[in-house]
Amino acid sequence: MSWDGGLRRQGDDAIQLAHYRRMLEACGREAPVNLGGIIGTEAHVTWHDLDEQKYRTPPADPSAKTKRRSAMERYDFEFGFRIDIADTATRATGPDDPLLLVEPMRSTECAGCKWDGYCSPIIEADSGDVSLLPRVSYQQWRRLRNNDIRTRQAQSFSVGSLFEPSQWQPFRMALIEFTVVRDFAASSQVLWDAMIDWPGHGDWIPATRVVVDSGTGTEVGETFTGYTGYGPILLVDRMRVNAIEWNETTGHGSCEVEKLGPVLKGQAGFVVTGDSERSHLEWFERVTVPYLPQLLAPVVNKMGAAGFSFGMRSLAKSLERAR
Ligand code: SF4
Repeated sequence: MSWDGGLRRQGDDAIQLAHYRRMLEACGREAPVNLGGIIGTEAHVTWHDLDEQKYRTPPADPSAKTKRRSAMERYDFEFGFRIDIADTATRATGPDDPLLLVEPMRSTECAGCKWDGYCSPIIEADSGDVSLLPRVSYQQWRRLRNNDIRTRQAQSFSVGSLFEPSQWQPFRMALIEFTVVRDFAASSQVLWDAMIDWPGHGDWIPATRVVVDSGTGTEVGETFTGYTGYGPILLVDRMRVNAIEWNETTGHGSCEVEKLGPVLKGQAGFVVTGDSERSHLEWFERVTVPYLPQLLAPVVNKMGAAGFSFGMRSLAKSLERAR
């Protein structure tokens, strides 16, 4: 991982520095340059150029390309958006008033949030918000909402109708879906670093090598490709980072990638939790495989899960050796 990539992964630090920068400006104590330093536990200062456009940010229009922005630009956008949220909420006092700009969704942050008492009854009303389904990322939640799918019940009807054709076109495509979990005798930071080291996956996933195609492969929109197999029998698996989030303080991180084909299409990702001693990984795959009869899906599910379990055993051994 390059130094620049390491700094980009500390994007939350840069946003915090941008916040201090704006506060210093407000009281007329700002420095002439947008530069901030963080003193870490290693007693080193890590300097962030807050004007450097190094953070890839998703566009408002999902079909548009991602764009690199600076920490100051990200901060100003996020801060302005929060003011708009509060402004709209104070004006929304009745059914004819403007719609709220944000709605509650279940996330890992809810447990420690003081607004949980307000949000939970809304999230859990009726059959429950779609965010209560396991492993629904913000991007997936947003897509479902954009298609007016808001509740778990509506989502189950939607998924049902989506896969109905497989009943009468059994050789067209199969849905492969499995989750593998494992505990590791390594800190969550060590496990997280290993998981986002895409080329490093080749060390523990059998017959696989991974090449990062754009950036470091650790920012939203960046891509990488997995090659699994030997000689001419090679499965090419192109992927794009849909969402990635690491919280150093809580030791919690999650990453979701979109499988772009040419064979496997769908989503995959993982969640890392733990502390400075132990960690836990939950890895999921939800992909479609063309030309595979759906009736063989359970067999392929088991094979896929077994393959990943084997890979995780290898990863666990290598992390333990490195301790
Ligand atoms: S409790 Fe509400 S405000 Fe807090 S993180 Fe959850 S949805 Fe957001």
